[in-house]
Amino acid sequence: MQLFDIVIIGGGGAGLYAAMEAMKTAPQLKIAVLSKIYPNRSHTSAAQGGVNAALANTAKDDSIESHIFDTIKGSDYLADQDAAEVLCQDAPGIIRELENMGTPFSRLEDGTIAQRPFGGAAKPRCCYCADKTGHTILQNLYEQCLRKGVKFYNEFLLLSLEHNNGAVQGVLALDIKTGKVVDFPARTVIFATGGYAKMYWNRSSNAAGNSGDGQAVALRAGIPLKDMEFVQFHPTGLRKSGLLVTEGARGEGGYLINKSGERFMSRYAPQKMELGPRDLVSRSIETEIREGRGFDSTAGRYVHLDLRHLGADLIKTRLPQIRELSMYFEGVDPIEEPIPILPTAHYSMGGIDTDIDGRTVMKGVYAAGECACVSVHGANRLGGNSLLEILVFGKRAGHAAALEAKDNSPKPISGTAVSDQYKYLRDLMHHDRRERYGILREELGRTLANNVGIYRTGEDLKNGLQDVKALRDRFKKVRVFDSSDVFNTNLIQVLELRNMLDLAQTVAEGALMREESRGSHTREDFPTRDDEKWHKHTMFTIENGQVKIDFKQVTMGKYELQERKY
Ligand SMILES: Cc1cc2nc3c(=O)[nH]c(=O)nc-3n(C[C@H](O)[C@H](O)[C@H](O)COP(=O)(O)OP(=O)(O)OC[C@H]3O[C@@H](n4cnc5c(N)ncnc54)[C@H](O)[C@@H]3O)c2cc1C
Repeated sequence: MQLFDIVIIGGGGAGLYAAMEAMKTAPQLKIAVLSKIYPNRSHTSAAQGGVNAALANTAKDDSIESHIFDTIKGSDYLADQDAAEVLCQDAPGIIRELENMGTPFSRLEDGTIAQRPFGGAAKPRCCYCADKTGHTILQNLYEQCLRKGVKFYNEFLLLSLEHNNGAVQGVLALDIKTGKVVDFPARTVIFATGGYAKMYWNRSSNAAGNSGDGQAVALRAGIPLKDMEFVQFHPTGLRKSGLLVTEGARGEGGYLINKSGERFMSRYAPQKMELGPRDLVSRSIETEIREGRGFDSTAGRYVHLDLRHLGADLIKTRLPQIRELSMYFEGVDPIEEPIPILPTAHYSMGGIDTDIDGRTVMKGVYAAGECACVSVHGANRLGGNSLLEILVFGKRAGHAAALEAKDNSPKPISGTAVSDQYKYLRDLMHHDRRERYGILREELGRTLANNVGIYRTGEDLKNGLQDVKALRDRFKKVRVFDSSDVFNTNLIQVLELRNMLDLAQTVAEGALMREESRGSHTREDFPTRDDEKWHKHTMFTIENGQVKIDFKQVTMGKYELQERKY
């Protein structure tokens, strides 16, 4: 393949905003976007609830300062304060850009963009398009990229990052349609491959492809990952499938109810009630269930999310997708009956360590969106801040990469790198291999949900880590049973599993090492936050297959450490 100025891996919101901004910065650049699925099927399209910006439309006294403080407090003080400031300051401008491109935001009567309350936020500042916000934004960005002439390579799966003496050369990818390994030489590369919460398998709200490919490839290429132990459980996943019921449902006034009919959040967050931050609400639901106040069913234990009092009109206009999902996947119509829910693995706070322009430690390599850790979410992300992050930092990474591209003259990718990849892929099909992908994947999901879930203890984490290590060993014998070249989905699943296993080890090791409770990471054996020892980021590298953990200071600003109360 000929040399590209920028190769972007990922066609979700972060990748597309980066591509659009890079084209704006330098229209002559040659930019390629690679995506393992068709871009507008990326997980961004599943985002329901909305995107935060202190526009002060619904609440006139809202401010950017208040958004910054909520984000830092929500992060349990692990966010880097310079990054949180950029996030919130750039938010109103980003929403205006989207509006000008034609994103159909829901409106107030005066014609301005409507904003709904979201968890952990002092004011209603979440802008939305009914409950299909991500879908509409993604369509819009895709149109803009096509219009500006971005070249798309759809159904190409990233295999490796090629580099020489700490500088990027490009990437290798599998052309899913033909089975060929294709080289993409590049002056700069931007990772925008999304999150890794699908490693929790059927207790996850994530799309099947959210397997953390970019993070795993970066890790294997020597780029450090940050804060991997922080995995967010969203309070309201559908009981049977883990599919998401947006926080917007509580934002619109939904109640959480236990089996005695009690609004139990009054015990845990008397002021914020159902609109406490996600870590707190998830823990509260889990506690209700553990202490016997949940409902029992053959499909597992759960509590109720009750929307009936909101009325049919509101549910049909503002939460139409939630109604559909509840009817299809739980057989309940929320207009008539409460929805059975339980917390579901939802979001990866950890990811590829970057600065506020998306730069990693490797020259020419950037990361943005859920695969990156800037870090704006610290130990717990606020609802509505992730769509915002992918747009703000996708834009910044696209801009910075466009400026850097002209200065880089990468060494060509060697032919042996390509043949080594072919050999690896062919070896996976060897008949001596006995392990089955489906079994390993289920076991990974089960051990993570049981041992590295919402409540964690040293002993469970040790068991979880042992299981993950054993699964990584067994993976060495996994077999791809389909040996065809065209659309080999078995091969793709196995490659994704390899990535999830590598990352699962960082998650479990980080969780075991961090002997405190902060944000989404709750250690029953270390129930309080320990700022003296643990107010720092964890940094993960891999050497000879072993995970190494180091630390990095949190960037502070004007907000001092405080106890978090809601
Ligand atoms: C159900 C759900 C609802 C959500 N609702 C909200 C919400 O209301 N508000 C909010 O702020 N946040 C929400 N989030 C979080 C938010 O949607 C995501 O964090 C965000 O959309 C991630 O965007 P992204 O561009 O980083 O990645 P994604 O949108 O996940 O895109 C990743 C891209 O990378 C590509 N890719 C991945 N691996 C490879 C590979 N190996 N090779 C080639 N391409 C690859 C994929 O094809 C895809 O195009 C929600 C998340 C979920 C799961």
